[in-house]
Amino acid sequence: MNRVYNFSAGPSMLPLKVLEKAQKELVAYGSTGMSVMEMSHRSSAYQEIIDECEALLRSLLGIGDNYKVLFLQGGASTQFGMIPLNFFTENKKADYILTGVWAKKAAKEAARYGEVNIVASSEDKTFSYIPKTDASMFSKDADYVHFTHNNTIYGTRFTSLPDVGNVPLITDMSSSILSEVIDVNKFGMIYAGAQKNMGPAGVTLAVVREDLIGKAMDICPTMLNYETHSENGSMFNTPPTYAIYICKLVAEWLKELGGVAAIQKINEEKAKILYDYLDNSSLFNATVEGADRSLMNVPFVTGDKDLDAKFVKESTAAGLVNLKGHRSVGGMRASIYNAMPVEGVKALVEFLKKFEMENK
Ligand SMILES: *Cc1c(COP(=O)(O)O)cnc(C)c1O
Repeated sequence: MNRVYNFSAGPSMLPLKVLEKAQKELVAYGSTGMSVMEMSHRSSAYQEIIDECEALLRSLLGIGDNYKVLFLQGGASTQFGMIPLNFFTENKKADYILTGVWAKKAAKEAARYGEVNIVASSEDKTFSYIPKTDASMFSKDADYVHFTHNNTIYGTRFTSLPDVGNVPLITDMSSSILSEVIDVNKFGMIYAGAQKNMGPAGVTLAVVREDLIGKAMDICPTMLNYETHSENGSMFNTPPTYAIYICKLVAEWLKELGGVAAIQKINEEKAKILYDYLDNSSLFNATVEGADRSLMNVPFVTGDKDLDAKFVKESTAAGLVNLKGHRSVGGMRASIYNAMPVEGVKALVEFLKKFEMENK
């Protein structure tokens, strides 16, 4: 078996232990005599899997009893529309902080259903920082405030929460869920597509405060109403059963490792190894400076397009794959999610050093 170090932004690496467990259980799960893929979602064996997945996520993330945990489909992108359709209840008005492509897409979709205020943006500097906000900038009568917790493409993250008073705070954690400790109970809702840090593509996690559910706009389709999924235990229709099962295995793996606080330490160590090298390199530069740097996605450049391309080609040949940067930033990007071991980051830094020596 030849596995590479996969720095893909998503879908991305899964822990090897998870893949091996899934492989072992692939053909016959427990005593059921069938694959999880072949199970009715209404069977008791499957109910146990989804219940266990929810219980593990509740405990790992410290989710209070007044929140619903929903397993949805359509990716984080579908949430961009579901959020306004469900939460434009009072004034059909929301505040958005623009920190990248995903935040912009979310704001654009919401603007189809009501008034969207852009309270702050970092677009002036190619989204390379997190704009400062204070309580006075937010609308008192907004139905909610939305921001993107970790900016997958630009490599920035919020290290503190915007002060929005009593307005429900909503965040897209697609690329940072389970990577660092956050206080879920400060939010009206958090959501994440699974395929970066939680499991395979096909399932989207939504954690929604109960009192916000049940007030959707009249035009909201049944399948896009959180109430539909909340009242039916995420089984109004067939959920993405196998993807949820893999999420359960990932959550078990994380619990065994010591939980979110333990993986945060490892993530901080990995990020430090990489940023320290980049900050001292005379060839490579990280595109984000200072405190706003992401722990998960690290974009970097040489400043020379041809040299960047050469790096991507040679690193791929060395078993360090998917390091090509997003087309809107160029250069390289190393995504070092929970499943990327410290050894993978060390191997990357060794390769960066070698490349720097050879291309001075
Ligand atoms: C990848 C990503 C998305 C899009 O997710 P889909 O599941 O493909 O819709 C949205 N937001 C963030 C922060 C992402 O990283």
